[in-house]
Amino acid sequence: MKYSLKTKLSLSIALVVLLTVALISLLANFFIGNQFKGYINIQQEKATQEIVKSISLQYDRDTKTWDVDFIHTIGMYALYDGYIVKVYNRENQVVWDAEACDMRLCTEVMDDITHRMMTEYPTLNGEFTSKEFPAIQNGEAVGTVNISYYGPYFLSEDDFQFLESLNKILVGIGIFSLLSSIFVGFLLAKRLSNPIHKTVAVTKQISGGDYGARINDESNTKEVDELIESINQLADNLEKQEKLRKQLTADVAHELRTPITTAQTHLEALIEGVWEPTIERLKSCYDEMTRISKLVIDLENLAKVESNNLKLDVTQINLLELSDKMSGNFETELRNKSLKLTIAGGCPEIFADKDRINQVLMNLISNAVKYTPEGGEIRITLSEIDDSVVISIEDNGVGIPENELPFIFERFYRADKSRHRLTGGSGIGLAIVKSIVTAHGGTVDVESRADKGSCFMITLPKASEK
Ligand code: ADP
Repeated sequence: MKYSLKTKLSLSIALVVLLTVALISLLANFFIGNQFKGYINIQQEKATQEIVKSISLQYDRDTKTWDVDFIHTIGMYALYDGYIVKVYNRENQVVWDAEACDMRLCTEVMDDITHRMMTEYPTLNGEFTSKEFPAIQNGEAVGTVNISYYGPYFLSEDDFQFLESLNKILVGIGIFSLLSSIFVGFLLAKRLSNPIHKTVAVTKQISGGDYGARINDESNTKEVDELIESINQLADNLEKQEKLRKQLTADVAHELRTPITTAQTHLEALIEGVWEPTIERLKSCYDEMTRISKLVIDLENLAKVESNNLKLDVTQINLLELSDKMSGNFETELRNKSLKLTIAGGCPEIFADKDRINQVLMNLISNAVKYTPEGGEIRITLSEIDDSVVISIEDNGVGIPENELPFIFERFYRADKSRHRLTGGSGIGLAIVKSIVTAHGGTVDVESRADKGSCFMITLPKASEK
């Protein structure tokens, strides 16, 4: 059985308060009860002393008589308070006896107290006991006062009422704390669970494909805010990925459509006999097929390097050697366009994936060759900065307009759209370069000015992370 956060939190708070209140009430009851008993004991001792003292004063030493009337008044008062008094003179003769005076009242008082104490304190095992006190006047014993009362202690009607109202107050406080804790717990839980409910709703929306959904609420709980922020970030990423996926499909379709349509119409014309199958026309069809095949290879390469688990086969490589070899591959193009390529500088050997770095160099040198007009110059420079090496490939070709620079590493992006049919580019080369370099823990930067030339700088750590 799963409970909501609201129920759990309210119940937990209520339970804690209930336990605390119960414990406090119990302890309060126990301690106050004990203190009260002590207080009652002292009070009773004082009361008996008071009775004895006032009775002692009723002896007239001159006439050697007792003022029985006064003793009667004192005795009756004491009786109402639960003390049964008997006064003896020096000769041990009874001067005044409560029981003799009003037997019925005495029994009533005794029964009343015994009944009350037995019901409220059954474990006390109390009973009426009598104590003798000497009646002393000016240091001289003038008689004896015998007082019986319910021992070890007894509580009067007022005392019981006091304890009862104390208990009532404690119970009242307990109920009030419990109710207010349930109320506060409920409010707290509501404030906590509301943003979570909203977050869950938006998360469901996102998982249902609505990537534009965002949580705009702010809570005053740090963790919940963090949750909201990461879900919004997740939605951002999903939205971006979805956009890229859609764009990729559209781009691939677009890239394939032109060469396929061209080849299709050419072949149609040849089949229907509209065109003579000359070598040139067949070659044009072949060229379109080559474009398609190149695009597919590029896409395959991109898919490989962009896959998250791109495995780098790291070995020790010499960048100068690699650059030299790669430039050699472009000998024909360089010669055809009368381009001058120089390699300068140097750097220590690094640990990286040789094939992938070769691909980076190939893509960058190929771009430099493609986008540099006849007679231009390409410079490859190697250098070392701290724990990294830098390869820069600079040309004085057509350059890239400033407003297009931020996009050139995106898949299928070509700076000057009209240019690509001449150069045969598909706009994937730099995306591959970026993926490979990033996988090595490096960075790619570019500086370029239209009609002045471009410079691509690759920074690679000497020892690759992967
Ligand atoms: P492409 O196959 O079109 O060359 P890339 O991803 O390699 O694709 O490059 C993307 C775009 O960046 C190119 O279309 C081109 O406009 C621009 N570009 C890349 N390298 C250079 C360069 N050296 N000089 C000028 N423009 C360049």
